[in-house]
Amino acid sequence: MRKEEINQVVKKLRSKGVRITPQRVAMLEFLAIVDTHPTAEEIFTELTREYPQVSVATVYNNLNLFIKEGVVKELMYGDSASRYDFDLGQHYHAVCDVCGKVVDLYYPILADVEKAAEQLTGFKVRGHRMEVYGICPDCQKKDR
Ligand SMILES: [Zn+2]
Ligand SMILES: [Zn+2]
Repeated sequence: MRKEEINQVVKKLRSKGVRITPQRVAMLEFLAIVDTHPTAEEIFTELTREYPQVSVATVYNNLNLFIKEGVVKELMYGDSASRYDFDLGQHYHAVCDVCGKVVDLYYPILADVEKAAEQLTGFKVRGHRMEVYGICPDCQKKDR
């Protein structure tokens, strides 16, 4: 299923005149496969296993390109390094306080919050984010 999604994304990029390199495909595949929302550093580490000549700058350039073309979303949490999400549909996140990983949280979208916020603040609301914080299963295991 993810393979099909990647093909769709590659097709979309190609139709916009973006050159599709093996490294770019590998980055998209990695982003689609892992559910931890990797940082650029983590993507770089993974990529150099297969493409040792790749530079960090290339990873950042590709990420910025993916964001610009609307196929990858950048997530920022406070001061920590940005993380990258392949899934563009609205969804929430669970953030581990220990290792920092971010996991998708598929909970029904709270549409009421936006309506309430408009009434309470007078804002024209364009969207909202929600994260829950805690300790992920892996870190709970290490704790014992
Ligand atoms: Zn953790
Ligand atoms: Zn996500």
